[in-house]
Amino acid sequence: MNEAFFHGYLTFIVFAFGACWGSFLNVCIWRIPREESVVHPRSHCPKCNTLIAWFDNIPLVSYLALNARCRHCGTHISARYFIVELLTAILFTLIWIKYGISLLTPIYWLLAFGLIMGTFIDCDHLIIPDRVTFGAWVAGLLLSPLVPELHDQQTVWGGLRSALIGLAVGGGLLYAVSLIGRLIFRKDAMGLGDVKLLGGLGALLGWQAVLFIVMAASFLGSFVGLYLIIRRGRRWRSRIPFGPYLGLAAGVWVLGGKELWLAYLRWLAGGMF
Ligand SMILES: [Zn+2]
Repeated sequence: MNEAFFHGYLTFIVFAFGACWGSFLNVCIWRIPREESVVHPRSHCPKCNTLIAWFDNIPLVSYLALNARCRHCGTHISARYFIVELLTAILFTLIWIKYGISLLTPIYWLLAFGLIMGTFIDCDHLIIPDRVTFGAWVAGLLLSPLVPELHDQQTVWGGLRSALIGLAVGGGLLYAVSLIGRLIFRKDAMGLGDVKLLGGLGALLGWQAVLFIVMAASFLGSFVGLYLIIRRGRRWRSRIPFGPYLGLAAGVWVLGGKELWLAYLRWLAGGMF
């Protein structure tokens, strides 16, 4: 077996592995905000309640094979399920291609898993579950000393220190913004869930990531917000979930934004001296 073929085979395995986690994410996104167990009972059709057989529950494949319908009652199955599985598979594959065989790969897979969950739950319910936000705090504080490479550090203490600084900058920065927002608009412009999430992202990715994520997410958020107001007639003050933009920006950071940001800072520094 030549090397290119073997690498392609591994990449395919990672894609399928990601699709399986995407399938589980669909369960989590539906059940966690409803405080139902994610393992029990087994998946069933929401309309006719028939248990879904294993061969009708194969990620991506079954949706296409069944033409987006329940085998028993013919009820239409939302494209959302397919999209979440495909998105998870693609993100897992991109992380694998970028980081390869390293401890960073499974950590970023975990991060992608949490962010997809937080994003879709935030879109549906305008909340980000503590399982995602505090989960990121715990993951950041626990994993950073063990894998200091997360913060480009070499020592246990260096990793832990970077995680703590990231947590403080992430949580503190957005909390300050939300306080200012409350003073200006006399209303909660931003949920506490966003503050907690950004703290977690800081703990996992460091304070520089926090600055990038806040800037990129605000830019994306105001762009989409303006579009919705102009084209769809949404009111200015309607609450728009911010979590998805934070998640998207974090994804951009992990998949290459970091290198761009550091190159930009070097360019700025070069211009100044
Ligand atoms: Zn059915």
